[in-house]
Amino acid sequence: MNYTGPIYRPPYEANTLLLQVTVGCAHNKCTFCTMYRDVKFSVDKMDQVEKDLQEAQAKYPTVKRIFLVNGDAFVLSGRRLKVIAEMIHEYLPAVEIITMYASINNIMGKTDDEIAELKRLGIGDLWIGVETGLGDALDYLNKGASLDDAYEQLERLNRAGITFFYGFMFGAAGKGRGFENAEANAKLINSVKPLGIVPTTLNVNEGTQLAKDIEEGKFEMATEREVLEEQIRTLELVNVPTYYMGIHVINTVSFDAQLPRDKKAAIDRVNYVISDTDETVLDSVPIRHSI
Ligand code: SF4
Repeated sequence: MNYTGPIYRPPYEANTLLLQVTVGCAHNKCTFCTMYRDVKFSVDKMDQVEKDLQEAQAKYPTVKRIFLVNGDAFVLSGRRLKVIAEMIHEYLPAVEIITMYASINNIMGKTDDEIAELKRLGIGDLWIGVETGLGDALDYLNKGASLDDAYEQLERLNRAGITFFYGFMFGAAGKGRGFENAEANAKLINSVKPLGIVPTTLNVNEGTQLAKDIEEGKFEMATEREVLEEQIRTLELVNVPTYYMGIHVINTVSFDAQLPRDKKAAIDRVNYVISDTDETVLDSVPIRHSI
């Protein structure tokens, strides 16, 4: 299989076949992200995609799930995604779900008819990093779409029956705003009812706008205590059935939970960590190693 540059996929897609259709991230401008900073975005040629599918057919003929690589593969036009999906079903007829990272902007670039067609072709379980449900924090993170866009576009997916996972970050609104961020995320989650919710934690990466703003005193990171309290508040406020997919290594307390069934156990777990952690650690901003 052909892979170019860094490849990222959600931890939950560890056993999924990765098919490269793009290189890098078409947006590549988020305030906090360095994932594809040094990679020039490009679209893979169809004959390369087909060659990979021929290889996959020989090696993994019964594969049921495919993840399209890379950072925002849903940026491809509806027409191109349709051709890719049709080719996938031709070479790998057992495939049931074609998933990928998607942004709110990517959805905006498609008509309702295209979205309905993509659903019919098995595209679903989209991984969407909205990052926060707070309008001003979202603008600061420079995701390229507004909060109103997020509400509207996620509802468009719902109307078409395309399932999705809502990605967000604890600490995304900075110091002193953890509860506000939790309330805003829960409001959006309760409204758009994602199949799963995927928390990570805001991290400072060298060379980002975020790092520069922190240095210049324009942004202050939330402390560990605030992050954990935000986690509890989020768990308390989400009131729709959804899967809490929190195993990312960047999270201090990482676990999965089926909500609402596991809500109390999940909250107890974070509370236990708070009660068992030294005050100096809770009042600090730890360095997180990951993306
Ligand atoms: S967070 Fe996602 S959309 Fe933003 S620059 Fe990084 S990979 Fe691209």
